[in-house]
Parts: sequence; C-alpha cells; structure tokens
Amino acid sequence: MTAAVRTRRPRGVTVKTFEQIALMRLAGLVVGRTLERLVAAVAPGMTTGELDRLGEQSIRDEGAVPSFLGYRGFPGSICASVGAEVVHGIPSAARVLQAGELLSIDCGAILSGWHGDAAVTVPVGECAPELLALSRVTCDALWAGLAAVRPGGRLSDIGAAVEGVVRPHGFGLVEDFTGHGIGRSMHEPPNVSNLAPHGPGRGMRLEPGIVVAVEPMVTLGNPAVRELDDEWTIVTADGRQAAHWEHTVAVLPDGPWVLTALDGGAERLGLPRRAEPIRH
Ligand code: MG
Ligand code: MG
Repeated sequence: MTAAVRTRRPRGVTVKTFEQIALMRLAGLVVGRTLERLVAAVAPGMTTGELDRLGEQSIRDEGAVPSFLGYRGFPGSICASVGAEVVHGIPSAARVLQAGELLSIDCGAILSGWHGDAAVTVPVGECAPELLALSRVTCDALWAGLAAVRPGGRLSDIGAAVEGVVRPHGFGLVEDFTGHGIGRSMHEPPNVSNLAPHGPGRGMRLEPGIVVAVEPMVTLGNPAVRELDDEWTIVTADGRQAAHWEHTVAVLPDGPWVLTALDGGAERLGLPRRAEPIRH
C-alpha cells in the first residue's frame, strides 16, 4: 500500500492576511535595520555584550520589543555566536571579538504583536578565505531557499534549494536545527528543514499567507552539533567554525516578500520592489 504525499497544512500553521503580513513587514524592517546597525559596529576588541546593548537599544528606539530577551529565560536581546558556536550564543561582557573569527548575529523583534527574525554572519576583522567562502555560500543558500518560497511550491523545495547550493562545496549542513513558521509567535509550525532527503515537491503546499523563517546553518567540517553546559549555546562537535544566515519571508500571490530584508529581497530575487506599508 502506498501513502499519499502529505500536502495538507499541518496543525497550527497559520495563514496570514495581507494586512497582517504588512504588519509583519514593519516588524521585519526593525530587525533588518537593527542588524544593519550591528554589522556596522562589529570590530575586533568589542564584546558581544556591547553588541547586545546596541541591539536592544536599536529595537527599543524603533518602538519594538526584543523577542529573544526572556524567551525561555534567554538573557540577551540578540544571539551572538562566534567561531565554533553555530547558534544561540549568549552575549557576554567577557566575550571579546577577535580578528579572524566569524560572528553570527541573530535578532528578533516584536512590533504590534508580530514577530520578525533574521540573522547575518559577519567576519570580525580579516578572516581566512575559507571562512569568507563559508559565510558567502551560507548566504547564497539562504537566498536560494527564499527564492523557492512561492505559491504552488512545497515545503521541501526550500531544503532542496539550500542543499543544492551547499553540497557542491563540501561544507556541513546542520540537520538538528531548522527554520520555522513565524507570526504572532516567534516559532510556529511548520519546521523548515534545510535538507530535502526525498527531494523537492514534498510536504505542505506554500500558499499565499504562509510566513516562514529560513535559516541555513553551515559548518566548515562535520555538521554534528552539541549544546554547551549553559543550555543555550550550540557548537560544532568538531570545533570548526560555522555560519548562519536567516530571513523571514512571506508567500504572496506573485512570489516571496522577504520581510526582514531592507529591500524586501528585490535585488537578490530579481523582483520589483513592493510598496512599503505605512506605520501608524
Ligand atoms: Mg533567528
Ligand atoms: Mg529563527
């Protein structure tokens, strides 16, 4: 007996109206602008604690609330993951950024009850070419995944697109953490895998109103990860460096709208810029 390919919406997946997506765009812009400010501030000698204070200030100056702060007890407004740390690094006044390290900054904000979530990887000072390549490939994989978020597509199209970029480079693609649905909560169903073991065209149909966060995590070596004793920080098991890029993206009838990208993804996706909602 054969099983039908599962295309129905899993429980808990919410479909947003255009008006709700416009509100999510405003939250996404807070995240996008905050990340832009943080990237500009990164320098060797700075601590991740200082970066966290800047991030919180930026989010609050925008009239929003940092969604990470206090989330299941998380003590920071951003995640700052350096070197072999993959995700969920706790910002600290004791963690001094050093030239040659890759830093991933993950940022989330709530505005009018709606969430935005995005991450970038930044080289601290001068980095080895292989680290720059790792970050660039991870970013390219993210954009390939975002391009696959279109009406009529299926959930596994995203993982297939991410894998298609990462695999030829021989980097590790982290399996233990995934992207996610997002809306009035930071994490909603479905999980958005960065792998598609059975190829594209599988899983939930991507219909207009679906909003997800796509976030590939890629390692120089083995993709196995473990959690540190702080019960947050995820590091590579082999101690080699990692990169992490993320955007929140909505499915609209005519294609993706990258809510946390300042231009909505127009340049990278080759799409016309959408009209921006007005904040009241
Ligand atoms: Mg994030
Ligand atoms: Mg996320």
